[in-house]
Amino acid sequence: MEHIFRPLKSLHARIFLFAFLMGIVPFSILTPATLYIYRSIVINSDSQELMSSAQTFSYQIVTSKSMLSSGNDPGLVNQLEVVARSYHGRIMIVNSSLRVVFDSYDMDEGKIIVWEHVIRAAKGEKLSYFDKDTKYLLVTVPITNSDGDIVGVTIISKSMDYLQQTLDKVLSFTLLAMLVVYALCLTLALVFSNIFTKPMRNLSKGFENVVLEYDNLVPEIKSYRELEDITKNANAALIKLHDIDESRREFVSNVSHELKTPLTSMKVLADSLNGGGDVPIEMYKEFMQDIGEEIDRETKIVNDLLSLVRMDKKDAKLNISSVDMNEIIELVLKRLKPIATKSEIELEFESIRQVICEIDEVKIVQVITNLVENGIKYNNKGGYVKVTLDSDHQYCNIKVEDNGLGIPEEAIDHIFERFYRADKSHSRQIQGSGLGLAITKSAIVMHRGDIKVSSVLGEGTVFDVKLPLIYITNSNNQANVAEKEEA
Ligand code: ADP
Repeated sequence: MEHIFRPLKSLHARIFLFAFLMGIVPFSILTPATLYIYRSIVINSDSQELMSSAQTFSYQIVTSKSMLSSGNDPGLVNQLEVVARSYHGRIMIVNSSLRVVFDSYDMDEGKIIVWEHVIRAAKGEKLSYFDKDTKYLLVTVPITNSDGDIVGVTIISKSMDYLQQTLDKVLSFTLLAMLVVYALCLTLALVFSNIFTKPMRNLSKGFENVVLEYDNLVPEIKSYRELEDITKNANAALIKLHDIDESRREFVSNVSHELKTPLTSMKVLADSLNGGGDVPIEMYKEFMQDIGEEIDRETKIVNDLLSLVRMDKKDAKLNISSVDMNEIIELVLKRLKPIATKSEIELEFESIRQVICEIDEVKIVQVITNLVENGIKYNNKGGYVKVTLDSDHQYCNIKVEDNGLGIPEEAIDHIFERFYRADKSHSRQIQGSGLGLAITKSAIVMHRGDIKVSSVLGEGTVFDVKLPLIYITNSNNQANVAEKEEA
């Protein structure tokens, strides 16, 4: 069944049908309607004319003493016969006993007439009736004397053949005109539907080309504003898809590269141990330690990647609880203290106030750890990393500040990208995967917070983290905040 109506689903077919019907329907309705109205007007005006003739005759009949009694008034009879002929019809006069006293056909004189219209006219009604079969118009008008008594009925019938002939002529002309109009409507509907749908066909062709060659954009269509909007939005979506595809490719290539580097190092170390004949035990130990470090590096990259993948998932969940931020910052700083001491970096903590925040503790610990760790890693001997904790009525603010290497201006916009490492020269000495800040940002975004960075090369870096004090779920965040504020 579906395939039968399939052509009707096309806009082209619909516009064609619409235009065609809009052309022919009014014409097809109006033409017969006009003919019908014309016919009614003619019948109406003829019946008025017959009525007034009958009325005139009624006066003359009443005045003529002999007409009603014997039908014998030569002058009047002559006049009635002339008029009847001019109507191609018949005139009859009946008296009050419904007996025919005059018949222009000379057929029914002396007979009693019991037609319904005549009986009603004898009771005072003026009636007119068109017989569709015989095409005769009939009027029956009472004859009233000077006292107001009904003394007879005048019956006039008129042949309406002439009307039928006129209507037939008009009809044949109209049918011809209809054929011309239909042909015209058909052509115009075809042309218009074609013109109207052409931009859509072009757009569809453009999309087909995009499917064939993914790199294409949909060509700009200068026609309807709506189509221009569709093209614009489709191209914006395509550009976004291209970007996503590009970043996916870059990500895969970065992952492969990052995973390969420790493997290559391990292979070189292992090969030099295997191929070197008698290798001193010290060298064995040193190389095995290096291999261990490379394994640690590989493990860290894999773990970081897993963290990112987990956070990227649409349905990734946070394990929210109310956490004392002062406590967890102190805990992180305590854990990092040995590394800082080794690098001769001083760790400071300034707590402006006690802050309780609804967070996923594990993830935020990782955030603070990454930031402080970076402050230590990208620093000079004798430098410091300072963490400041504060809050306003809505947010917990954590500032991680160092006086280390700083970030080059052109790198600032990229440091949150996966695998991005700012300064390639010192990156070689300082270990890292370039995933730490990407993980940090993902975790903060999951909490609907924000992270900002400002840095001066050679002077230091400041990271500002903002986390909502009350965890914001999608729908009831406002209600949640309000409730807490009230409490
Ligand atoms: P990495 O594993 O390289 O540390 P991150 O994602 O943590 O990866 O950081 C990305 C890059 O941003 C680093 O390689 C570094 O160049 C720069 N960076 C991050 N934190 C700091 C900082 N506190 N000082 C200077 N540079 C930093």
